[in-house]
Amino acid sequence: MLYTGRNLQRRRRLALAALVAGAAVTASVTPAHAQSNFAALSSGVTNTIAQATGYANGVALPANGTLTSGFGARWGTNHNGIDIANAVGTPIYAVMDGTVISSGPASGYGQWIRIQHDDGSISIYGHMEYLYVSVGERVSAGQEIAGMGSRGFSTGSHLHFEIHPDGVTPVDPQTWLANHGIYV
Ligand SMILES: [Zn+2]
Repeated sequence: MLYTGRNLQRRRRLALAALVAGAAVTASVTPAHAQSNFAALSSGVTNTIAQATGYANGVALPANGTLTSGFGARWGTNHNGIDIANAVGTPIYAVMDGTVISSGPASGYGQWIRIQHDDGSISIYGHMEYLYVSVGERVSAGQEIAGMGSRGFSTGSHLHFEIHPDGVTPVDPQTWLANHGIYV
């Protein structure tokens, strides 16, 4: 399961921040997306609070959901990330502050977002249905950047998440998140 927070007051404050961030995002997307996105946020207060608990030391949980696949050997190849499954449109969050370096179609990923963080690491998010940020845009940890989907090489709605601490080499995101106090 996902990270469980220890401090209720902190969780509530972060939940508010998440809602504010979500509202800012809805203002910049098309009306149809804005409407569904806002409805999801409005009716998903519990989920939003759960998401907000996944934030520690400047690092945010990339999405709420069920871990369906871990990092490592899979199907005769290497799975370079983790898969977190949830409904189409489920918010995807930037894991750390950074700059968007890719946002659009990508082979296998369907659509992807790549963020270069200030420490040189790169995070990658795949299969999203909705993209809410553009190349060159500055994002903050926990900011909603996309809505989950099943595009590309995917058998159901989920987030494929990778973290490359040196900007090139993927490592196990579960370990990386755990090292930052977030447990998936
Ligand atoms: Zn995956």
